[in-house]
Amino acid sequence: MEDLGYKKNDPSFSTRAIHEGNEPEQWNDLAAVPPISLSTTFKQNGPAEFKLFEYGRSGNSTRQCLQKCLAATENAKYGLVFASGLAATTTITHTLSAGDHVISMDDLYGGTNRYFSRVASRMGIQVEFVDAVDPKNVEAALKPNTKMVWLETPTNPTLKIVDIAAVSAIVKNHGAFVVVDNTFMSPYFQRPLELGADLVMHSATKYINGHTDVIMGAVCTNRDDLYEQLLFLQNAIGPVPSPFDCYLVNRSLKTLALRMEQHMKNGLAVAKFLENHPCVEKVIHPGLPSHPQHELSKRQSYGQSGMFSFYIKGNDLKTSKSFFQQLKVFTLAESLGGYESLCELPSVMTHASVPKETRDKLGITDGLIRVSCGLENADDLINDLDQALRKVVHV
Ligand SMILES: *Cc1c(COP(=O)(O)O)cnc(C)c1O
Repeated sequence: MEDLGYKKNDPSFSTRAIHEGNEPEQWNDLAAVPPISLSTTFKQNGPAEFKLFEYGRSGNSTRQCLQKCLAATENAKYGLVFASGLAATTTITHTLSAGDHVISMDDLYGGTNRYFSRVASRMGIQVEFVDAVDPKNVEAALKPNTKMVWLETPTNPTLKIVDIAAVSAIVKNHGAFVVVDNTFMSPYFQRPLELGADLVMHSATKYINGHTDVIMGAVCTNRDDLYEQLLFLQNAIGPVPSPFDCYLVNRSLKTLALRMEQHMKNGLAVAKFLENHPCVEKVIHPGLPSHPQHELSKRQSYGQSGMFSFYIKGNDLKTSKSFFQQLKVFTLAESLGGYESLCELPSVMTHASVPKETRDKLGITDGLIRVSCGLENADDLINDLDQALRKVVHV
């Protein structure tokens, strides 16, 4: 691929994603591939004298193997997995108490917005949404009781970039912790802990699993104190994934680097094509020089995934709806990061729970289409979008 000027990635990423936590020596039969441990309980040698695990909710070997491997991909000391991305978000928020203040990026995953505004706020957590693209806005919003700053970058669905290092430096002096939802990038293209964040969170449902068949969440950290709290909460609240799902996601990590490279190639090829298309108003892709924060994106990331958005000419619900009807290779569906290409209309799908006023402010119009480029042949993807656009937008 042409050199776009992104940070040079760690050449040993795949070695870690394949071997860390997966050592055959840990199993009695030296299995090269970790077994699925289904047992919900473990025999104890005496009361409260257990060998490794006592009960399946608090831990089992399949989950442990995945958690170690996942931590290695983020270059983190610790990894924890949860039943979904939102379960990870909820568990992180449970480290706070009523009366604590949270600063959240204003443009973020619709479900995170819904959880903060309609659930956490009912539990006495004060959540304030700010545009963290300008780190000064975060600084201005800090209060004596601010305990957590929640970032998502690139943002969803308008792909704005937040300067993780700048925000982390501001927040560090204040004693709050910084969480980065790294779902759109995967650990392969962005490692927020290296930039000063305290916690990195993933919906592993997306790129990390990458095969559209597991719902899972993950958190990694280097901080002993936060890890201890989250480990306690993982067991005390109970939002744990099944051993089978842990097995699948551990397997997916083995091809993460390969998949991400191809997602990036396809995403850029398709975005570049659309950028010059007469039926397209505008393309938003952080890997394109036309993106207002392209330089920042290159500075803090190792590349870009297959995610981008575009405004269809006409910019209305009727045009967008007809466009989706014409697609043959792309599937109209929520979610992202799988091997298959998806596209969707955030205003009425993933971000329908975001108040209309906020959507308007963020530019989430009825003509903004979000694309998750999969691993198909790029020309087939381009031809599919081209024929659909030409059928519904008359120029
Ligand atoms: C999907 C998603 C989530 C929520 O994850 P689930 O696994 O669906 O619970 C959170 N953040 C982002 C950016 C997502 O795309």
